[in-house]
Amino acid sequence: MTTIPHVTIIGSGFGGLYATRKLAGKEVRVTLIDRKNHHTFQPLLYQVATAGLSPAEIAPPIRAIFKRYKNIEVLLDKVTGFDLEHRQVLLHGDRVAYDYLIVAAGAGHAYFGHEEWAPMAPGLKTVEDATEIRRRILLAFEIAERQARLERKLAPLNFVIVGGGPTGVELAGAVAEIAHRVVAGNFRSIDPSRARVILLEGGPRVLPAYTEDLSRSAERQLRRLRVEVMDNCVVTGVEPHRVHYRDGSDGSLEASVILWAAGVAASPLGKMLDAPLDRAGRVLVKPDLTLPGHPEVFVIGDMASVKRADGKPVPGVAPAAIQMGEFAAKTILAEAALEATASGPREAEATEAGARRSFHYFDKGSLATIGRNSAIAEIGRLHLSGFIAWLTWLLVHVYFLIGFRNRLQVIWAWAWAYFRYQKGARLITGNSDSITPGEAHDEMSGAAKLETPSSLPSVPERKVS
Ligand SMILES: Cc1cc2nc3c(=O)[nH]c(=O)nc-3n(C[C@H](O)[C@H](O)[C@H](O)COP(=O)(O)OP(=O)(O)OC[C@H]3O[C@@H](n4cnc5c(N)ncnc54)[C@H](O)[C@@H]3O)c2cc1C
Repeated sequence: MTTIPHVTIIGSGFGGLYATRKLAGKEVRVTLIDRKNHHTFQPLLYQVATAGLSPAEIAPPIRAIFKRYKNIEVLLDKVTGFDLEHRQVLLHGDRVAYDYLIVAAGAGHAYFGHEEWAPMAPGLKTVEDATEIRRRILLAFEIAERQARLERKLAPLNFVIVGGGPTGVELAGAVAEIAHRVVAGNFRSIDPSRARVILLEGGPRVLPAYTEDLSRSAERQLRRLRVEVMDNCVVTGVEPHRVHYRDGSDGSLEASVILWAAGVAASPLGKMLDAPLDRAGRVLVKPDLTLPGHPEVFVIGDMASVKRADGKPVPGVAPAAIQMGEFAAKTILAEAALEATASGPREAEATEAGARRSFHYFDKGSLATIGRNSAIAEIGRLHLSGFIAWLTWLLVHVYFLIGFRNRLQVIWAWAWAYFRYQKGARLITGNSDSITPGEAHDEMSGAAKLETPSSLPSVPERKVS
């Protein structure tokens, strides 16, 4: 190792970003690699998907965040593999060396072996997913209006959301608000307020990671927003504009839009690290968050499988990724300081001697938003729901947004939406000029028909903090 260690960080999500921030301006050289040029504030993606915020308000450019720090280099590229022996990260036609590596590439959607459902039922993970969902939701009203005008018949306007975890719940609440309040009165041939929003949950209750009283309260709040909640309802098949399910008996629902919020799988980069993985593809890291046999490689955030002191898994939430990023960075800085006063590589010695500290997750509580004035919060023994929980959610999310300008823009957009029942980002992007109702349906449904429906286990989604 040279005197100034080179730290390569993959991913500028919560884990990678906070690790980089901790190393900014310090005696290390950092290369931060991401396939996107922006950080994505995932907790507010559903607001982009439901036209409440514009993408730029939740996705600041990475270069702008670190422009003041000469020790940080940002690379826009997709990591394709690792050469752990030679301490190199593989990119398209390039390699980046490292003394320390922090892998924070996050997670994606899990369709439980039914990847063919993805085009018909998109999930929400990136800004592109969010704008595609926004397009489908807004286009559904336009198609219904045109159909009603052309054919003088009212087709059902159903929005079906699969998965009653935090993302499914917040999407259902926001779609209900759009249909029943925001665009109501904007159309002449249809009445959007008669649209049905249906949330399918495989288990016995929504938000299963919360205590039963809170999850029942969430369900009541959803029903108040006129979301139809179907518990114990396992999706068995998805085809263009139809969802098949089993809830005691077999049934199916016609759907203008189907959204997928039923499960997550860790980034495929985990597999390339040649380490043991858990069922969701997360790397089983050591207590100091490193790869077994590689004390110089940290795996953090949604990619890492770590246990808390009570034996429960550390949840896949932003505060956990932030704490892991900061922990990895502090470990590296401590060893770099030691290195500067001694000679030879230290990290292996330190780990063998058990000198490295273990990571401990500090749980500050969990929040899930449902809709206007509706949320739940679990902060230690304190259980909140309704307006107070919603206000807490609002303040926490504004506080954690990166960048002063973004915070102001978001506060303004929310205030406008709150008082005027308006959504400022109701843009249908992509070409819809020549789309007839039938073609538009095809375009929104994506893939070919599913041949054989098969059963889908319900997997609990993240508990949100
Ligand atoms: C819709 C949604 C809502 C959420 N809401 C909440 C919430 O309210 N509260 C909460 O606490 N948590 C929430 N979460 C969870 C939280 O966002 C994650 O736990 C957190 O983002 C994990 O951070 P991370 O750094 O591990 O990964 P991410 O934030 O996912 O970042 C991964 C980064 O790696 C990059 N990347 C991936 N693969 C490659 C590659 N091959 N090459 C280069 N770059 C790559 C990606 O572009 C991305 O920037 C939500 C998640 C989603 C999807």
